[in-house]
Order: sequence, then structure tokens, then C-alpha cells
Amino acid sequence: MNKDTICALATANGIGALGIIRLSGDDAVSIAQKSFKGKNLEKQKSHTVHYGYIVDGEEIIDEIMVSVFLAPKTFTTENVVEISFHGSPFIGKRILEVLIKNGARMAKAGEFTMRAFMNGRIDLSQAEAIADIIASENEASRKVAINQLKGGITSEISILRTDLLNFVSLIELELDFAEEDVEFADRTALTGLLKRIEDKLKSLIESFEYGNAVKNGVAVAILGKPNAGKSTLLNALLKEERAIVSNIAGTTRDTIEELLHIKGNAFRLIDTAGLRETTDEIEKIGVKKAIEKVEQAEILIYLIDSATNDFTEDLLMIKPLLRDDLKLIICATKIDEVVPSQHEKMEALLRQEIAQEFDFIKISALENQNLQDLKNELSSYVEELKTEENNVVITNQRHFQALQNSLESVQKVEEAVHTKISTELLAYELRNALEYLGEISGEFTNDEVLGNIFSKFCIGK
Ligand code: GDP
Repeated sequence: MNKDTICALATANGIGALGIIRLSGDDAVSIAQKSFKGKNLEKQKSHTVHYGYIVDGEEIIDEIMVSVFLAPKTFTTENVVEISFHGSPFIGKRILEVLIKNGARMAKAGEFTMRAFMNGRIDLSQAEAIADIIASENEASRKVAINQLKGGITSEISILRTDLLNFVSLIELELDFAEEDVEFADRTALTGLLKRIEDKLKSLIESFEYGNAVKNGVAVAILGKPNAGKSTLLNALLKEERAIVSNIAGTTRDTIEELLHIKGNAFRLIDTAGLRETTDEIEKIGVKKAIEKVEQAEILIYLIDSATNDFTEDLLMIKPLLRDDLKLIICATKIDEVVPSQHEKMEALLRQEIAQEFDFIKISALENQNLQDLKNELSSYVEELKTEENNVVITNQRHFQALQNSLESVQKVEEAVHTKISTELLAYELRNALEYLGEISGEFTNDEVLGNIFSKFCIGK
């Protein structure tokens, strides 16, 4: 139904050796031909590359290579043309102008991928995986995204759906024979199946915690009294492992997060602004602020100078921060300065006072002692989130929501079977569950949801 031919820059908008402009639609080849000086592109075979010039009338814009991909074996399933030009943003802009003059229009955000979805080339979770792959900043998130692209989630979900669908047909058959009071669907078998589906859904839902850690990084807070060694530790960690220093979008603007990669997993060191500039962070931010900061964190690294004898202030700080789902690592710092016997006393005292499990690591950030232990402890946190069945990992909020809705409705079906509810209501609940499961692959989605998903893509994807 979408016949117009779209075009956009497919590579990053900047200077590079090459840039690529992509065209997709019925007229992709003929529009390219009108803008091209060289062979007749309309006479070329699919999946071939040709040399020539992009021209605006008589004027040569650039010397280029053009690839021709004919429907249906293309990314969008439509005719697709890719033009490799000399990577200047200005030339890219000129070429787009020529293509538009010759009948193409600029693609909207995500429109190429949306066409691939609309034309049945990929399902919705795969489209989302493409966005994730493009956005992946570390090895773990790339792996998870590529697994989704291969259809990981959808294949698991569709097995669940098919099983459910079989039961729905049996139950609906019962409705046709309502007067005769027959049961085609064995209720014990149904209960068994529902239990299996429930377990599967739960494990997928659980994988979201890991998926989220992989996709967004685990939030880590570093705290400690002034001079405990926080900024020295931060610098030591970042010196080796720093990948990107960034203001991560979506968090409050005045907090600075630094990203640390350990064994392919990302850690977000939250609100490190104070650490970089000043040595008396706690004095400055106060306990209330510290609590706010740690509330966003999954891991707290609390530093205590090894020379400390009196832990009153540290305990006052730590205790209100504790939560069941917060991993606490206490580091005794500056061990290059203090005799080891001190540490046993320190650890014993802290264990007496702190009710929660914690790791105790002795470090010297200055002399790089035991920092590896600290990093191992951080990455083991992520590894532990992986459960055995987590080869399929949910990273997407929308999938997570749909899975939770599915779980709820499956539980309602279970209850319905248990309380021997009317067959009609049972069928209704089953249909609901089917629909929620279908939302993940895009079998049941409305335009608003689609628009929302694809608008998050960049133009050209
Ligand atoms: P912050 O206030 O917690 O950020 O503490 P800093 O990182 O600024 O450190 C305070 C002082 O302790 C500085 O003079 C650091 O050089 C020193 N320091 C930090 N870590 C170590 C360490 O591992 N060994 C030694 N000997 N000194 C350290």
C-alpha cells in the first residue's frame, strides 16, 4: 500500500571515507537511474554493484558506486538501491536533493525497518532488536540483541502461543456443544500446560533484570567519608576501563554518569560529579542526598580509610541506605599504608553492626592492589542475574509489559479452571492471554504502538 520511494542517509551524518544513501520502494531503481550517469541500472541483475556518477542534470555531483537489490530479497522486500559516495555531509545532502527532485521522498524515522516489518520480512521484536543492535555499546548487549534479531523471543513465544491456541480451539468446540455438557479439553492437561507456560513466562520476565543490566548498565554508587579515597578509586577504575564518558540520556540532567565496562558488561557510576571535583562529597551532599543517590543504584561501593578506628559516622551513613535488593561492597582503602591485622578487626566490627550480607575488599587505588577483586565482584553481580534458561533475554520494556500481562491472564485462566468457571469465561480469558502474547511479535498491535516504536529509530534505519 505504501508505494512511494523513500531515501535517507544510512551512515552517520559526518565526515568519513564513505557515506551510504539508501533508497527503497517500487521506483528505487528508476529514480536512481534518473540521477545516474553510467550503465542503465534498470537493466542490471539484483545484488550487483556498478560504477558511475551522480548527476544533477548536466552537473556531476560525485563519483559513486551503486548497488542494486531487486524485490523481494531485500531488507524491506522492496526494490532497494544503495549509493556509496565520498563521505562528506555536503555531498550526501546534494545527492538526496537530486533523488528527491527525481521522485523520492525523505524517509521518516525508522521507516526502512517499519517497511521490513509491514511487508512481513521481520516481526516486531526483531525490528526492535535492530534498533538495539545499532545502539549497542558493549559486547553483552550486542549478543542479546543479535539473539533477538534471530527471532529468539518470538520463537519461544510462538511455541507458547501455539500450545495455548490448541486449547482455545478445544474449549471453543465445547461452546458449540454447550447443551451436551461435554469436555473436549482435558482440564488436567490444561492445568499442566498453563503451569508450564507460567514457568516459561516467569523465567522470561526474570531475564528482564539481566536484560536491563545488559542494555542499560548496572547502576553503581560510590560513597564514603571525605578523603576515604573515592575519587582516586573512580579515576583508577576509569583509567583502565573507561569506554565513554557521557551524560546518559534519560537521567536527571545534573547528575553525571560515567560508564565502566568490565568483561563486556556495562556499569553506570552514578552521580560522580562531586567525586571528580571535590573531596568532601558527603559533607556537601548530606545524608539525604546520599540516600537519593543510592536509591537509584543496584550496587553500593562504600569506602572506608583503612586507618579508621571509629566507624560511628560510617555506620550512620550506611545503615539507612541498606535494602534487600542493594548489593553492598565495603572497601577498606589505602592498604598500602596500613598493617593487615587492622582489617580483620575492621571487618569483624562491621559485620557485627551491619545486618546485611556484604563483600569486604581491601584495596589500594593508588597502587592498584586488589582492584581486580573489586571488578570481579562487580561482574559476578551481572553473571548471577543470568539464570540457566536465560539464553533468551528480555531487554525491552514493551516486551516486559506484554509478558507480565500475559502472565496475569494465564494466572486468571488457571484460576478459572480451578474454580470451574463457565466455559465461556474460560475461553474469554484464554483469548486475552493469546492476545498479550501476540503483542510481542506484533501480531496484535495498533498503529499507535507501532508509530511509537518506530519513531524511536533514527532516520535512515
Ligand atoms: P575522596 O575525598 O574520598 O574522593 O578521597 P580522594 O580520592 O581524594 O583521596 C584522599 C587522599 O587519599 C588523597 O590524598 C589521595 O591521594 C589519598 N589516597 C587515595 N587512595 C589512596 C591509596 O590507595 N593509597 C594511598 N596511600 N593514598 C590514597
